[in-house]
Amino acid sequence: MSEDTPKNDSFSDFGLNPRLLEAILALGFEKPTPIQAKAMPLLLQGHDLVGQAQTGTGKTAAFGLPLLGRMDPEIKATQALILAPTRELALQVARALQDFAARLPSLRVVPIYGGQEYGLQLKALRRGAHVVVGTPGRVMDHMRRGSLRLDALTTLVLDEADEMLSMGFVEDIEWILGHCPKERQMSLFSATMPARIRSIAAKHMRSPERVQIEQGTTAATTIRQRHWMVWGLNKLDGLSRILEAEVLDAALIFVRTRVSTVALAEQLADRDFRASALHGDMPQSMREHTVRRLKNGQIDLLVATDVAARGLDIERFSHVINYDMPGDPDAYVHRIGRTGRAGREGNAISLVAPRERHLLRAIERTTKQSIEAMELPNAEQLNAKRIKVFKQNITEVIERGELEPFLGILREFCDEESLDPFEMAAALAIKAQGNVPLLVKDVVIPPRKTARPRTDRKERAEPESGMACYRLEVGRDHGVNPNHIVGAIAKTTGLQSRHIGRIKINEDHSLVDLPKGMPAKIFQQLKRVRVCQVPMELRLVSGPPTTTKRKSFKSKGHFTKKSRRQASKK
Ligand code: ADP
Ligand code: MG
Repeated sequence: MSEDTPKNDSFSDFGLNPRLLEAILALGFEKPTPIQAKAMPLLLQGHDLVGQAQTGTGKTAAFGLPLLGRMDPEIKATQALILAPTRELALQVARALQDFAARLPSLRVVPIYGGQEYGLQLKALRRGAHVVVGTPGRVMDHMRRGSLRLDALTTLVLDEADEMLSMGFVEDIEWILGHCPKERQMSLFSATMPARIRSIAAKHMRSPERVQIEQGTTAATTIRQRHWMVWGLNKLDGLSRILEAEVLDAALIFVRTRVSTVALAEQLADRDFRASALHGDMPQSMREHTVRRLKNGQIDLLVATDVAARGLDIERFSHVINYDMPGDPDAYVHRIGRTGRAGREGNAISLVAPRERHLLRAIERTTKQSIEAMELPNAEQLNAKRIKVFKQNITEVIERGELEPFLGILREFCDEESLDPFEMAAALAIKAQGNVPLLVKDVVIPPRKTARPRTDRKERAEPESGMACYRLEVGRDHGVNPNHIVGAIAKTTGLQSRHIGRIKINEDHSLVDLPKGMPAKIFQQLKRVRVCQVPMELRLVSGPPTTTKRKSFKSKGHFTKKSRRQASKK
């Protein structure tokens, strides 16, 4: 990633094949995205390349355009192979490349993936496929059968490499790479760079260039991020309220497991939301069917796992909802990247259980963005919205202007029975409404415990003299026990365990007594130390603040010189 690369403000700066240029302009690509601006020139020069960027940053064109430019349609052999983790992604990449190659009609891009009949794929391969986009397992099958030959291969791409890794494709990939010609350009794209991927790059690539696009460059601007701290209502009721109150086109709702995709989709459907599950165990055809139904508006909510939703490029998603929180900040960034596509406004809403607060903070730290707290809409707000929708529905029907034969019948009925037209309309509305009441009654939500007091003396008795009480943001929920705490503190500060006072472990935090007069430097180091993976975020609850004066802690003698040396080594 050199600083002196030219600016590359426009696709025409790259010296691309003019037909490709025309095609992408027609697709509405005006300016290269950051990964495109950095990666395309390097790929066009023939370098191997490792690209790290989040989903939605435009990686397909970054590797796809240089790749298509290298293809020779005259040679009837496979010249490029792109490996992608799932059928959906392989199809998506293949379609994108077909779009880019729209003005190069003799160039053939063929997707091959598990779950589709071999017959079709064999036929497509026999007809000649300049570019093959496939999932590793099926590509390997075709290579073994001899239906996919790679001796003329000039270009190789691993797309979403980390995802292929986590889906257990490493050995297949190694096998495929081992059977490709040595002289070829290879690029690898991944959102994260685990060691295993770095080692694949080191083993199979020739001094690759590295291009990294900082996290948050995509998600940042167009996605509004909020969280609801689960309180008073259960998650399902909370979610229902949120879904109803938001101005929502379609939402992608993330849950942790395959089983819960189905369970939640059913619960939502019971509440009259148009929801379906999407998970990796569904047959491919079902998954495609579900995505299609979402795209053409037959359903609005997709309940999915991370793997199933990876790379879904659906413009309709106005919302991403974390019903279950993701495991780490990276996963969060991936998830929310599914909304705010194509320059639209996106919304990300996370349902955070109190004990998951630390995760929320970790995400905020990593993304350097704050995730604002939201309150659930109350009954009054919900009802206002329901009434508005009710009125809109009526207006829409009137505007369609096809009121006969009802208009005539009702006029006649009114006259015959001398009915009040409003009463009659209300009667019809009741019938149309069915068993679900139009308005909700308010649920009394107990007041949330006030935000954690800075100094909470009631939490426990005063510390013994000579000691100060500190609070740690790790507790039983994180699986912590006193030994973990003693271990972490002793290691960082050099304090002997007999100088560490009482420890009280609560659900989401712990309290520990430490000798008074902790040097500020050690305090700062200790704050960052992790216990059970969670930063302890040490905070003084009661006792004098830290000191910067040597004398005072020296005289205490607990925080020894040796300990400071150890601490600064950390
Ligand atoms: P990634 O592979 O990084 O997740 P994609 O290549 O799928 O991202 O691109 C995401 C979306 O952005 C696609 O809908 C694509 O058409 C669009 N896109 C990519 N590059 C550009 C660009 N330069 N200008 C406008 N839209 C783009
Ligand atoms: Mg992609």
